[in-house]
Amino acid sequence: MNPTVLAAVMTAPRAPIELREFPEPDLPAGAALLRTARAEVCGTDVHLWHGRLAGVPYPIIPGHVTAGTLEKIRGAARDVEGQPLREGDRVAFFDVHRTCGRCRACTVNRTPTRCPSRRVYGITDPAAEGLFGGWSQKVYLEPGVVLARLPDAVSFDAFIGGGCGLQTSVHIIERARVALGTTVLVQGAGAVGLSAAALARRAGAGRVIVIGAPRARLDLALAMGADDVVELEGTTPADREAQVQALTGGAGVDVVIEAAGSARAIEEGVRLVRDGGVYVVAGHYTNVGDSTINAHEHINRKHLDILGCWGSEVRHFAGAIRALERYGSEIPWHLIGSRTFGLRDIDDALRAAESMQVVKAIVDPWA
Ligand SMILES: [Zn+2]
Ligand SMILES: [Zn+2]
Repeated sequence: MNPTVLAAVMTAPRAPIELREFPEPDLPAGAALLRTARAEVCGTDVHLWHGRLAGVPYPIIPGHVTAGTLEKIRGAARDVEGQPLREGDRVAFFDVHRTCGRCRACTVNRTPTRCPSRRVYGITDPAAEGLFGGWSQKVYLEPGVVLARLPDAVSFDAFIGGGCGLQTSVHIIERARVALGTTVLVQGAGAVGLSAAALARRAGAGRVIVIGAPRARLDLALAMGADDVVELEGTTPADREAQVQALTGGAGVDVVIEAAGSARAIEEGVRLVRDGGVYVVAGHYTNVGDSTINAHEHINRKHLDILGCWGSEVRHFAGAIRALERYGSEIPWHLIGSRTFGLRDIDDALRAAESMQVVKAIVDPWA
């Protein structure tokens, strides 16, 4: 008899989270078992709970970004840097797996985040197949899952505070081509916006401005590297445009990063970016409806580059860990996860994230 593992299961949208026991899996060659230290309740989990993502095979064990200790390894394992891994090592794993490497998206188009075979732990892996999510005391790491050793300087709380938002932000900064001295404006002060502001500063931006709410998140944005913040609450788009113009001496913003997930933010963003500037849209992970843009005024005549940013690749995962190691002492990623919940309290964690009481909730499945 295999020992049992406790996990929190999302059976359907809006349903209460259920605690279930799963048998500890038998490991085929190349697989490993992670003893979870920290998982997260991020904006994606709130979307899953609201039923806003298509193609989710409920019931699922959510928790797509997770870190812990390697409890068992079958065969030789190496991390993403090629270093051998041993049982007892502190690791994180890349949540995207089964990207095929052979389809048109993977090869001809070079858009592996759009590969139709791609699956994501905690989002598109069904609980019927086993422990494929971090809201569980242990996670099954199937053969082929990419692992990274966590450097000694990177605590579990710092890793999970950065979490999926940091990986997304590494991708955003790559897309945005932030050049030395650039003025960067970030729309949104959630987990993605905060990390994007922090990384834009380290990528060489001369000035970083964040528009967001509530005030506590803007204070965190300043602590993470923003120069200026603009309040979303109590201001109109015209007020905010005037503030941004004043902050830039009328020059406008070179790069705007949308991490707000609102249709209105798009309409505002194309006005805030300067002529010939870059607009990266990364906050629309779900369909929140149409935005109204005048193509002549806001795109063509402005000579604008508008870029989407979907999912993460392994280099963004590896880049996030390098950023945590290099900048973790000066960027307070651990403060993004302000409260920790056990598996029995996940409903409370979801409500805290939904109502924006916390930027993200942290899960300790052994609490
Ligand atoms: Zn593919
Ligand atoms: Zn997430």
